Amino acid sequence: MKEFDYIILGGGLSGLSLAYEMNRQGCLKEKTLCVIEKRKEYIRDKSWCYWDFDNNKFKDCVIKSWEDFSITLNDKTVAVNCNKTPYRAIDSKKFYEFTINQIKSNNNISIIMDCDVQLVGEEFIETNKGNYKGGFVFDSLIDLNRYDSLMYQHFFGCEIETEIEYFNDEIVDLMNFDCSQNGGLHFFYTLPFSRTKALIETTWYSKSIKSKEDYQNEMNDYLTRKKIVGKINYTEYGAIPLDLPFIKKNNLTEKYLRIGIAGNLTRASTGYTFQAIQTFSEQIANNMRLSNKIIMPHIRPAKYNFLDKIFLSVMKNNYKQMPSIFFNLFKSNNNSSIVNFLTDRSNWIEDFKILLSMPKFLFIKNFISCMCEGVFKK
Ligand SMILES: Cc1cc2nc3c(=O)[nH]c(=O)nc-3n(C[C@H](O)[C@H](O)[C@H](O)COP(=O)(O)OP(=O)(O)OC[C@H]3O[C@@H](n4cnc5c(N)ncnc54)[C@H](O)[C@@H]3O)c2cc1C
Repeated sequence: MKEFDYIILGGGLSGLSLAYEMNRQGCLKEKTLCVIEKRKEYIRDKSWCYWDFDNNKFKDCVIKSWEDFSITLNDKTVAVNCNKTPYRAIDSKKFYEFTINQIKSNNNISIIMDCDVQLVGEEFIETNKGNYKGGFVFDSLIDLNRYDSLMYQHFFGCEIETEIEYFNDEIVDLMNFDCSQNGGLHFFYTLPFSRTKALIETTWYSKSIKSKEDYQNEMNDYLTRKKIVGKINYTEYGAIPLDLPFIKKNNLTEKYLRIGIAGNLTRASTGYTFQAIQTFSEQIANNMRLSNKIIMPHIRPAKYNFLDKIFLSVMKNNYKQMPSIFFNLFKSNNNSSIVNFLTDRSNWIEDFKILLSMPKFLFIKNFISCMCEGVFKK
């Protein structure tokens, strides 16, 4: 059995971010850490976007930043300026390489690849490469066969390169609702990296995930409708669980803490997780450095979980109304208030104005149904 002071299960975004922060803040000078990761190699598999409100910590991994984004419904577009908090896209391959290079400079850190965790027991962790024991275990694994989410944000995206200049690379098309809304909330999302290259995603919010073929058909229809012709360089595919029933409010024990999506860091109404994972990792490492203790970080005020539960309920029960709800939300509110709200930083006045721009009857009806179903206690 191999023993370490700390073990991180899963070397994805949250696992590597935490290892990177623990190392950067000097928590691993006299302690050992092992990251256990199932994959054999790291490739580009995701494009992480976020509104950057402080430090652009991973600037070498950023593909592009934008200061404007837009929402489109029925051929009408609302443009939102975010020059104080630019919207950035990170290439996951660059992120993996950057964090792993930093981590590898410390001999107290081991990354075990091609290592499949099969059982997380009280005393040790069972893997295909033997058993591991950690003084403290951070766990980013989710067994979705066991814990199905009540709602997913699921999507398929392709990076397309055109011969002619097609895209306006100054503005992100955050949500384009001019598409079918059958079976869930649906929009197209376009990240224009240059005038001839963009990542376009078909994105859904619903309980059930589609087959790859369905997404591809939607994508082909969209490209034909928009007269976008070019070669596909890269595709990405994913499903972010937004409502995982097993996650408890406080999941910290003396020896174990869930992190990443498994640790409830996803903003349920949007699927954004990247920035919360960074704040979480910084706070864990900071507390470790200052007090030698693992203290549960406070990532987002409880009001967002409360509001998101109602939002998810509207998405489940009244998804056909969601495009106009989103459109009005962006149209009626001040640019910075919207970004503050989406990044867990809004004040009560901004929240109040945002709530006023929502259809009140619908939200009250869903609030009552959440109360009756005991959703707020879960
Ligand atoms: C395609 C895609 C795009 C996304 N884009 C954005 C975005 O733009 N902005 C945003 O904020 N969020 C985004 N997200 C959501 C979220 O930020 C990512 O899913 C992020 O990767 C979550 O980090 P994590 O550490 O929780 O999970 P992961 O990054 O998935 O890490 C989990 C790791 O555990 C490993 N693993 C799994 N099972 C085992 C096992 N049995 N044994 C050992 N290792 C195992 C996996 O290989 C993986 O490396 C996106 C998600 C996807 C899927």
